[in-house]
Amino acid sequence: MESLPDRFIIRSVQGRWIVDSRGIPTIEVEVKTGGGRGRAAAPAGASRGSYEAVELRDGNNRFGGKGVSKAVSVVNNIIAPRLKGLDSRRQRLIDIVLCKLDGTPNKSRLGGNTIVATSLAVAKAAANTIGVELFEYLGGPGAYVIPVPFLNIINGGVHAGNELSFQEFMIVPVGFDTFSDALAASLEVYMKLKSILKTRYGASAVNVGDEGGFAPPLRENREALTLLVDAIREAGYTEDSIVLAIDAAASQFYRDGKYLVDGKELDTDAFLEYYLDLVNEFPIKSIEDPFHEDEYSLFAKLTQKLRQRNILVVGDDLYVTNLSRLLKGIEMRASTAILVKVNQVGTLSETIDVVHAAFNAGMRAIISHRSGETEDTSIAHLAVGLRTGIIKAGAPARGERTAKYNELLRIEEALSGEAVYPGWNVFRIGYPITGQRLLQGGTY
Ligand code: PGA
Ligand code: ZN
Repeated sequence: MESLPDRFIIRSVQGRWIVDSRGIPTIEVEVKTGGGRGRAAAPAGASRGSYEAVELRDGNNRFGGKGVSKAVSVVNNIIAPRLKGLDSRRQRLIDIVLCKLDGTPNKSRLGGNTIVATSLAVAKAAANTIGVELFEYLGGPGAYVIPVPFLNIINGGVHAGNELSFQEFMIVPVGFDTFSDALAASLEVYMKLKSILKTRYGASAVNVGDEGGFAPPLRENREALTLLVDAIREAGYTEDSIVLAIDAAASQFYRDGKYLVDGKELDTDAFLEYYLDLVNEFPIKSIEDPFHEDEYSLFAKLTQKLRQRNILVVGDDLYVTNLSRLLKGIEMRASTAILVKVNQVGTLSETIDVVHAAFNAGMRAIISHRSGETEDTSIAHLAVGLRTGIIKAGAPARGERTAKYNELLRIEEALSGEAVYPGWNVFRIGYPITGQRLLQGGTY
Protein backbone atom coordinates (compact mmCIF):
# COMPACT_ATOMS: atom_id res chain seq x y z
CA MET A 1 0.00 0.00 0.00
CA GLU A 2 1.20 3.49 -0.83
CA SER A 3 2.09 5.93 1.93
CA LEU A 4 -0.60 8.48 2.70
CA PRO A 5 0.74 11.52 0.81
CA ASP A 6 1.60 9.37 -2.20
CA ARG A 7 -2.01 8.32 -2.51
CA PHE A 8 -2.90 11.88 -3.51
CA ILE A 9 -0.14 12.37 -6.05
CA ILE A 10 -1.36 12.72 -9.64
CA ARG A 11 -0.06 9.73 -11.60
CA SER A 12 -1.75 10.29 -14.95
CA VAL A 13 -3.92 12.78 -16.84
CA GLN A 14 -5.60 11.34 -19.90
CA GLY A 15 -7.69 13.20 -22.48
CA ARG A 16 -10.19 11.55 -24.81
CA TRP A 17 -13.07 12.60 -27.05
CA ILE A 18 -16.64 11.67 -26.20
CA VAL A 19 -20.00 12.75 -27.70
CA ASP A 20 -22.16 15.54 -26.30
CA SER A 21 -25.95 15.86 -26.27
CA ARG A 22 -26.00 17.58 -29.68
CA GLY A 23 -23.96 14.82 -31.33
CA ILE A 24 -20.80 16.94 -31.32
CA PRO A 25 -17.43 15.76 -29.99
CA THR A 26 -16.29 17.12 -26.66
CA ILE A 27 -13.34 16.49 -24.42
CA GLU A 28 -13.27 14.28 -21.34
CA VAL A 29 -10.32 14.13 -18.95
CA GLU A 30 -9.49 11.32 -16.54
CA VAL A 31 -7.09 11.92 -13.68
CA LYS A 32 -5.58 9.07 -11.67
CA THR A 33 -3.87 9.52 -8.34
CA GLY A 34 -2.00 6.91 -6.31
CA GLY A 35 -5.28 6.00 -4.62
CA GLY A 36 -8.21 7.12 -6.77
CA ARG A 37 -9.51 8.58 -9.98
CA GLY A 38 -11.78 11.33 -11.33
CA ARG A 39 -13.34 12.03 -14.68
CA ALA A 40 -14.99 15.17 -16.06
CA ALA A 41 -16.24 16.36 -19.46
CA ALA A 42 -16.53 19.83 -20.96
CA PRO A 43 -20.06 21.06 -21.79
CA ALA A 44 -20.64 23.51 -24.67
CA GLY A 45 -22.88 26.54 -25.11
CA ALA A 46 -24.90 27.66 -28.15
CA SER A 47 -25.78 31.16 -26.97
CA ARG A 48 -22.31 31.95 -25.73
CA GLY A 49 -21.32 35.30 -24.28
CA SER A 50 -18.67 37.21 -26.20
CA TYR A 51 -16.37 37.33 -23.18
CA GLU A 52 -16.34 33.60 -22.36
CA ALA A 53 -13.24 31.40 -22.24
CA VAL A 54 -12.60 30.18 -25.77
CA GLU A 55 -13.04 26.53 -26.76
CA LEU A 56 -10.20 24.78 -28.55
CA ARG A 57 -11.71 23.07 -31.62
CA ASP A 58 -9.90 21.55 -34.59
CA GLY A 59 -11.40 23.88 -37.19
CA ASN A 60 -10.78 21.42 -40.01
CA ASN A 61 -13.30 19.71 -42.29
CA ARG A 62 -14.41 16.98 -39.88
CA PHE A 63 -17.48 17.54 -37.65
CA GLY A 64 -17.93 21.00 -39.15
CA GLY A 65 -14.66 22.08 -37.57
CA LYS A 66 -15.84 21.05 -34.11
CA GLY A 67 -13.50 18.09 -33.55
CA VAL A 68 -11.42 18.04 -30.37
CA SER A 69 -8.30 16.13 -31.38
CA LYS A 70 -6.17 19.22 -30.73
CA ALA A 71 -7.70 19.51 -27.28
CA VAL A 72 -6.98 15.84 -26.56
CA SER A 73 -3.40 16.35 -27.61
CA VAL A 74 -3.07 19.45 -25.40
CA VAL A 75 -4.20 17.41 -22.39
CA ASN A 76 -1.91 14.48 -23.12
CA ASN A 77 1.18 16.36 -24.25
CA ILE A 78 1.12 19.76 -22.54
CA ILE A 79 -1.06 19.52 -19.42
CA ALA A 80 -0.31 15.95 -18.29
CA PRO A 81 3.47 16.33 -17.94
CA ARG A 82 2.98 19.47 -15.80
CA LEU A 83 0.40 17.98 -13.44
CA LYS A 84 2.01 14.59 -12.88
CA GLY A 85 3.62 14.46 -9.45
CA LEU A 86 1.47 17.26 -7.95
CA ASP A 87 -0.79 16.70 -4.94
CA SER A 88 -4.36 16.44 -6.27
CA ARG A 89 -5.71 18.20 -3.15
CA ARG A 90 -3.93 21.41 -4.07
CA GLN A 91 -6.72 22.53 -6.37
CA ARG A 92 -5.83 26.21 -6.35
CA LEU A 93 -2.19 25.51 -7.15
CA ILE A 94 -3.21 23.20 -9.98
CA ASP A 95 -5.61 25.81 -11.37
CA ILE A 96 -2.84 28.42 -11.22
CA VAL A 97 -0.57 26.04 -13.12
CA LEU A 98 -3.29 25.59 -15.76
CA CYS A 99 -3.85 29.35 -16.11
CA LYS A 100 -0.11 30.06 -16.36
CA LEU A 101 0.41 27.27 -18.85
CA ASP A 102 -2.32 28.84 -20.96
CA GLY A 103 -1.06 32.37 -20.48
CA THR A 104 -3.95 34.14 -22.26
CA PRO A 105 -6.82 36.14 -20.70
CA ASN A 106 -9.49 34.01 -22.39
CA LYS A 107 -7.86 30.53 -22.22
CA SER A 108 -7.44 30.50 -25.98
CA ARG A 109 -4.13 28.64 -26.06
CA LEU A 110 -5.02 25.47 -24.14
CA GLY A 111 -8.77 25.99 -24.57
CA GLY A 112 -11.41 26.61 -21.91
CA ASN A 113 -12.81 23.15 -22.70
CA THR A 114 -9.55 21.32 -21.92
CA ILE A 115 -8.98 23.42 -18.80
CA VAL A 116 -12.48 22.93 -17.36
CA ALA A 117 -12.41 19.16 -17.87
CA THR A 118 -8.95 18.92 -16.30
CA SER A 119 -9.70 21.19 -13.35
CA LEU A 120 -12.90 19.33 -12.43
CA ALA A 121 -11.31 15.89 -12.98
CA VAL A 122 -8.54 16.80 -10.50
CA ALA A 123 -11.12 17.77 -7.85
CA LYS A 124 -13.04 14.56 -8.42
CA ALA A 125 -9.87 12.49 -8.21
CA ALA A 126 -8.92 14.13 -4.90
CA ALA A 127 -12.42 13.52 -3.50
CA ASN A 128 -12.37 9.94 -4.69
CA THR A 129 -8.94 9.37 -3.12
CA ILE A 130 -10.20 10.66 0.23
CA GLY A 131 -13.30 8.51 -0.21
CA VAL A 132 -15.92 11.27 -0.23
CA GLU A 133 -18.32 12.62 -2.83
CA LEU A 134 -17.40 15.81 -4.71
CA PHE A 135 -20.06 17.86 -2.89
CA GLU A 136 -18.63 16.83 0.50
CA TYR A 137 -15.09 17.52 -0.64
CA LEU A 138 -16.09 21.02 -1.74
CA GLY A 139 -18.43 21.94 1.08
CA GLY A 140 -17.66 19.77 4.12
CA PRO A 141 -20.24 20.28 6.87
CA GLY A 142 -21.58 23.34 4.98
CA ALA A 143 -22.83 21.14 2.14
CA TYR A 144 -26.40 20.37 3.10
CA VAL A 145 -28.56 22.66 0.94
CA ILE A 146 -30.15 20.89 -2.02
CA PRO A 147 -30.73 23.51 -4.72
CA VAL A 148 -34.06 24.71 -6.05
CA PRO A 149 -34.14 23.72 -9.74
CA PHE A 150 -35.00 26.16 -12.54
CA LEU A 151 -36.48 23.76 -15.12
CA ASN A 152 -36.56 24.98 -18.70
CA ILE A 153 -39.66 23.31 -20.13
CA ILE A 154 -40.31 25.50 -23.18
CA ASN A 155 -37.28 26.14 -25.39
CA GLY A 156 -36.95 29.07 -27.78
CA GLY A 157 -34.18 31.30 -29.14
CA VAL A 158 -31.16 29.49 -30.54
CA HIS A 159 -32.07 26.30 -28.64
CA ALA A 160 -35.13 25.58 -30.79
CA GLY A 161 -36.40 25.78 -34.34
CA ASN A 162 -39.40 27.98 -33.47
CA GLU A 163 -39.84 31.75 -33.51
CA LEU A 164 -39.82 32.47 -29.79
CA SER A 165 -37.38 35.28 -29.08
CA PHE A 166 -36.81 34.37 -25.44
CA GLN A 167 -34.58 31.33 -25.04
CA GLU A 168 -35.91 29.70 -21.87
CA PHE A 169 -39.28 29.47 -20.15
CA MET A 170 -38.75 27.85 -16.78
CA ILE A 171 -40.79 26.58 -13.88
CA VAL A 172 -39.43 26.91 -10.34
CA PRO A 173 -40.92 24.62 -7.67
CA VAL A 174 -40.54 26.66 -4.47
CA GLY A 175 -43.40 25.61 -2.23
CA PHE A 176 -42.05 22.20 -1.25
CA ASP A 177 -40.14 20.82 1.73
CA THR A 178 -37.76 18.60 -0.21
CA PHE A 179 -36.02 18.55 -3.57
CA SER A 180 -37.61 15.21 -4.24
CA ASP A 181 -41.16 16.59 -3.80
CA ALA A 182 -40.25 19.65 -5.85
CA LEU A 183 -38.92 17.54 -8.72
CA ALA A 184 -41.92 15.22 -8.60
CA ALA A 185 -44.29 18.18 -8.95
CA SER A 186 -42.22 19.47 -11.86
CA LEU A 187 -42.61 16.17 -13.70
CA GLU A 188 -46.36 16.46 -13.34
CA VAL A 189 -46.29 19.95 -14.84
CA TYR A 190 -44.03 18.76 -17.67
CA MET A 191 -46.45 15.92 -18.47
CA LYS A 192 -49.46 18.21 -18.32
CA LEU A 193 -47.75 20.73 -20.60
CA LYS A 194 -47.11 17.94 -23.10
CA SER A 195 -50.77 16.99 -23.25
CA ILE A 196 -51.90 20.63 -23.50
CA LEU A 197 -49.47 21.25 -26.37
CA LYS A 198 -50.68 18.16 -28.21
CA THR A 199 -54.30 19.18 -27.88
CA ARG A 200 -53.82 22.84 -28.83
CA TYR A 201 -51.07 22.65 -31.45
CA GLY A 202 -50.88 19.05 -32.67
CA ALA A 203 -48.42 16.20 -32.18
CA SER A 204 -45.38 17.97 -33.64
CA ALA A 205 -45.59 20.64 -30.92
CA VAL A 206 -44.15 18.20 -28.38
CA ASN A 207 -40.80 17.89 -30.14
CA VAL A 208 -38.09 19.02 -27.80
CA GLY A 209 -35.26 21.57 -28.04
CA ASP A 210 -31.63 21.44 -26.91
CA GLU A 211 -32.38 21.46 -23.19
CA GLY A 212 -35.21 18.92 -23.23
CA GLY A 213 -38.02 21.46 -23.05
CA PHE A 214 -40.77 21.44 -25.67
CA ALA A 215 -40.22 23.58 -28.74
CA PRO A 216 -43.76 24.33 -29.96
CA PRO A 217 -44.36 26.55 -33.00
CA LEU A 218 -45.10 29.68 -30.98
CA ARG A 219 -44.34 33.26 -31.97
CA GLU A 220 -44.95 35.33 -28.88
CA ASN A 221 -43.38 35.05 -25.46
CA ARG A 222 -46.75 35.57 -23.79
CA GLU A 223 -48.13 32.41 -25.43
CA ALA A 224 -45.35 30.36 -23.84
CA LEU A 225 -45.84 31.95 -20.42
CA THR A 226 -49.61 31.36 -20.63
CA LEU A 227 -48.98 27.71 -21.44
CA LEU A 228 -46.79 27.35 -18.35
CA VAL A 229 -49.41 28.92 -16.11
CA ASP A 230 -52.09 26.63 -17.58
CA ALA A 231 -49.92 23.52 -17.14
CA ILE A 232 -49.17 24.41 -13.52
CA ARG A 233 -52.86 24.94 -12.81
CA GLU A 234 -54.00 21.78 -14.62
CA ALA A 235 -51.40 19.77 -12.73
CA GLY A 236 -53.13 20.91 -9.52
CA TYR A 237 -50.68 23.59 -8.36
CA THR A 238 -50.79 27.38 -8.01
CA GLU A 239 -48.27 30.18 -7.99
CA ASP A 240 -48.00 29.63 -4.24
CA SER A 241 -45.90 26.58 -4.97
CA ILE A 242 -44.60 26.81 -8.54
CA VAL A 243 -43.49 30.08 -10.12
CA LEU A 244 -41.84 31.10 -13.39
CA ALA A 245 -38.40 32.22 -14.55
CA ILE A 246 -37.18 33.32 -17.96
CA ASP A 247 -33.84 33.53 -19.71
CA ALA A 248 -34.27 36.06 -22.50
CA ALA A 249 -30.64 35.64 -23.70
CA ALA A 250 -31.24 39.06 -25.23
CA SER A 251 -27.86 39.44 -26.96
CA GLN A 252 -29.18 36.92 -29.48
CA PHE A 253 -32.02 39.16 -30.72
CA TYR A 254 -30.35 42.54 -30.38
CA ARG A 255 -29.61 44.47 -33.59
CA ASP A 256 -28.36 48.05 -33.80
CA GLY A 257 -29.81 49.26 -30.52
CA LYS A 258 -33.14 47.46 -30.98
CA TYR A 259 -34.57 44.19 -29.72
CA LEU A 260 -36.54 41.93 -32.08
CA VAL A 261 -39.28 40.63 -29.80
CA ASP A 262 -42.51 38.89 -30.82
CA GLY A 263 -41.91 39.92 -34.42
CA LYS A 264 -41.55 43.62 -33.48
CA GLU A 265 -38.59 45.95 -33.06
CA LEU A 266 -38.50 47.47 -29.58
CA ASP A 267 -36.19 50.23 -28.43
CA THR A 268 -34.68 49.92 -24.97
CA ASP A 269 -37.37 51.94 -23.17
CA ALA A 270 -40.15 49.95 -24.76
CA PHE A 271 -38.36 46.71 -23.95
CA LEU A 272 -37.96 47.70 -20.29
CA GLU A 273 -41.71 48.43 -20.16
CA TYR A 274 -42.34 45.07 -21.81
CA TYR A 275 -40.60 43.31 -18.87
CA LEU A 276 -42.50 45.38 -16.31
CA ASP A 277 -45.78 44.37 -17.97
CA LEU A 278 -44.75 40.70 -18.04
CA VAL A 279 -43.97 40.56 -14.31
CA ASN A 280 -47.38 42.11 -13.60
CA GLU A 281 -49.19 39.61 -15.81
CA PHE A 282 -47.32 36.42 -14.86
CA PRO A 283 -45.79 34.98 -11.66
CA ILE A 284 -42.24 35.55 -12.97
CA LYS A 285 -39.64 35.58 -10.20
CA SER A 286 -36.41 35.67 -12.17
CA ILE A 287 -35.27 37.26 -15.44
CA GLU A 288 -31.90 36.28 -16.90
CA ASP A 289 -30.00 38.36 -19.48
CA PRO A 290 -32.87 40.80 -20.11
CA PHE A 291 -30.62 43.03 -22.24
CA HIS A 292 -27.53 42.88 -24.44
CA GLU A 293 -24.37 41.69 -22.67
CA ASP A 294 -22.74 45.14 -22.58
CA GLU A 295 -25.76 47.02 -21.22
CA TYR A 296 -24.82 47.21 -17.52
CA SER A 297 -26.89 50.36 -16.96
CA LEU A 298 -30.04 48.87 -18.45
CA PHE A 299 -29.61 45.81 -16.23
CA ALA A 300 -29.27 48.21 -13.29
CA LYS A 301 -32.48 50.04 -14.26
CA LEU A 302 -34.47 46.82 -14.29
CA THR A 303 -32.82 45.61 -11.07
CA GLN A 304 -33.78 48.82 -9.34
CA LYS A 305 -37.42 48.29 -10.33
CA LEU A 306 -37.60 44.59 -9.44
CA ARG A 307 -35.42 44.27 -6.35
CA GLN A 308 -38.12 45.42 -3.90
CA ARG A 309 -40.49 42.91 -5.43
CA ASN A 310 -38.00 40.08 -4.82
CA ILE A 311 -37.73 39.34 -8.53
CA LEU A 312 -34.19 38.31 -9.45
CA VAL A 313 -32.31 39.89 -12.34
CA VAL A 314 -29.64 37.40 -13.41
CA GLY A 315 -26.47 38.05 -15.41
CA ASP A 316 -25.22 35.19 -17.58
CA ASP A 317 -23.71 36.53 -20.83
CA LEU A 318 -23.32 39.78 -18.88
CA TYR A 319 -20.78 38.27 -16.46
CA VAL A 320 -19.63 35.01 -18.10
CA THR A 321 -18.55 33.82 -14.62
CA ASN A 322 -15.73 36.36 -14.84
CA LEU A 323 -14.69 38.11 -11.62
CA SER A 324 -13.85 41.49 -13.12
CA ARG A 325 -17.13 41.63 -15.03
CA LEU A 326 -18.97 40.64 -11.83
CA LEU A 327 -17.17 43.34 -9.82
CA LYS A 328 -18.33 45.94 -12.32
CA GLY A 329 -21.87 44.58 -11.97
CA ILE A 330 -21.66 44.79 -8.17
CA GLU A 331 -20.49 48.40 -8.36
CA MET A 332 -23.27 49.33 -10.75
CA ARG A 333 -25.91 47.26 -8.93
CA ALA A 334 -26.58 45.68 -12.28
CA SER A 335 -28.22 42.51 -11.00
CA THR A 336 -29.27 40.53 -7.95
CA ALA A 337 -27.90 37.20 -9.21
CA ILE A 338 -25.19 35.69 -11.36
CA LEU A 339 -25.39 32.58 -13.49
CA VAL A 340 -22.32 30.41 -12.88
CA LYS A 341 -20.90 28.10 -15.53
CA VAL A 342 -17.48 26.63 -14.84
CA ASN A 343 -16.64 26.40 -18.52
CA GLN A 344 -17.26 30.11 -19.08
CA VAL A 345 -14.22 30.90 -16.96
CA GLY A 346 -12.25 27.64 -17.06
CA THR A 347 -11.15 26.52 -13.61
CA LEU A 348 -12.90 25.42 -10.43
CA SER A 349 -10.92 27.88 -8.28
CA GLU A 350 -11.94 30.87 -10.40
CA THR A 351 -15.56 29.66 -10.18
CA ILE A 352 -15.38 29.45 -6.38
CA ASP A 353 -13.97 32.99 -6.24
CA VAL A 354 -16.85 34.30 -8.34
CA VAL A 355 -19.48 32.55 -6.21
CA HIS A 356 -17.96 33.95 -2.99
CA ALA A 357 -17.76 37.46 -4.47
CA ALA A 358 -21.43 37.27 -5.40
CA PHE A 359 -22.42 36.04 -1.92
CA ASN A 360 -20.38 38.78 -0.26
CA ALA A 361 -22.29 41.33 -2.31
CA GLY A 362 -25.63 39.85 -1.21
CA MET A 363 -26.30 38.30 -4.62
CA ARG A 364 -27.58 34.84 -5.49
CA ALA A 365 -25.40 32.50 -7.54
CA ILE A 366 -27.09 29.98 -9.83
CA ILE A 367 -25.02 26.97 -10.89
CA SER A 368 -25.85 26.18 -14.51
CA HIS A 369 -25.49 23.56 -17.21
CA ARG A 370 -24.90 24.41 -20.90
CA SER A 371 -27.20 23.62 -23.80
CA GLY A 372 -24.60 21.08 -25.00
CA GLU A 373 -24.11 18.65 -22.12
CA THR A 374 -22.88 15.18 -21.22
CA GLU A 375 -23.79 12.71 -18.47
CA ASP A 376 -21.26 14.45 -16.21
CA THR A 377 -22.90 15.32 -12.88
CA SER A 378 -20.30 17.76 -11.50
CA ILE A 379 -22.69 20.74 -11.45
CA ALA A 380 -25.09 18.93 -9.09
CA HIS A 381 -22.17 18.56 -6.68
CA LEU A 382 -21.05 22.14 -7.18
CA ALA A 383 -24.51 23.49 -6.35
CA VAL A 384 -24.57 21.55 -3.07
CA GLY A 385 -20.86 21.93 -2.28
CA LEU A 386 -20.82 25.70 -2.87
CA ARG A 387 -24.25 26.04 -1.27
CA THR A 388 -25.76 28.13 -4.03
CA GLY A 389 -29.32 27.01 -3.29
CA ILE A 390 -30.25 27.23 -6.99
CA ILE A 391 -29.40 25.14 -10.05
CA LYS A 392 -30.41 25.48 -13.69
CA ALA A 393 -30.20 22.14 -15.50
CA GLY A 394 -32.90 22.08 -18.19
CA ALA A 395 -36.10 20.08 -18.46
CA PRO A 396 -36.70 16.96 -16.36
CA ALA A 397 -36.16 14.93 -19.55
CA ARG A 398 -33.23 13.75 -21.74
CA GLY A 399 -30.41 11.84 -20.06
CA GLU A 400 -27.84 14.63 -19.97
CA ARG A 401 -30.36 16.79 -18.04
CA THR A 402 -31.79 14.07 -15.79
CA ALA A 403 -28.25 12.98 -14.86
CA LYS A 404 -27.99 16.17 -12.79
CA TYR A 405 -31.46 15.96 -11.22
CA ASN A 406 -31.05 12.27 -10.44
CA GLU A 407 -27.71 12.95 -8.76
CA LEU A 408 -29.43 15.57 -6.58
CA LEU A 409 -32.05 12.99 -5.58
CA ARG A 410 -29.21 10.69 -4.49
CA ILE A 411 -27.40 13.47 -2.63
CA GLU A 412 -30.60 14.46 -0.82
CA GLU A 413 -31.12 10.84 0.18
CA ALA A 414 -27.52 10.53 1.37
CA LEU A 415 -27.99 13.69 3.49
CA SER A 416 -31.34 12.63 4.83
CA GLY A 417 -31.84 14.20 8.25
CA GLU A 418 -29.47 17.05 7.36
CA ALA A 419 -30.67 18.20 3.95
CA VAL A 420 -32.40 21.58 3.62
CA TYR A 421 -34.45 22.59 0.60
CA PRO A 422 -34.48 26.39 0.54
CA GLY A 423 -37.74 26.82 -1.40
CA TRP A 424 -39.08 30.39 -1.31
CA ASN A 425 -35.94 31.68 0.42
CA VAL A 426 -34.17 31.81 -2.94
CA PHE A 427 -36.47 34.71 -3.84
CA ARG A 428 -35.96 36.67 -0.60
CA ILE A 429 -33.20 38.90 -1.87
CA GLY A 430 -30.56 39.67 0.73
CA TYR A 431 -31.96 37.02 3.11
CA PRO A 432 -29.95 33.86 3.86
CA ILE A 433 -30.84 31.05 1.51
CA THR A 434 -31.35 28.66 4.40
CA GLY A 435 -33.55 31.03 6.39
CA GLN A 436 -33.83 29.72 9.93
CA ARG A 437 -33.62 26.08 9.01
CA LEU A 438 -29.94 25.79 9.77
CA LEU A 439 -29.54 22.98 12.22
CA GLN A 440 -33.12 21.86 12.06
CA GLY A 441 -32.71 20.14 8.75
CA GLY A 442 -35.54 19.51 6.36
CA THR A 443 -36.09 15.81 6.08
CA TYR A 444 -35.88 13.81 9.29
P1 PGA B 1 -25.91 28.07 -23.77
O1 PGA B 1 -27.15 28.77 -23.08
O2 PGA B 1 -25.44 26.96 -22.92
O3 PGA B 1 -26.46 27.64 -25.10
O4 PGA B 1 -24.86 29.14 -23.94
C1 PGA B 1 -27.52 28.59 -21.76
C2 PGA B 1 -27.92 29.91 -21.14
O5 PGA B 1 -27.96 30.95 -21.84
O6 PGA B 1 -28.17 29.97 -19.95
ZN1 ZN C 1 -28.48 32.31 -20.13
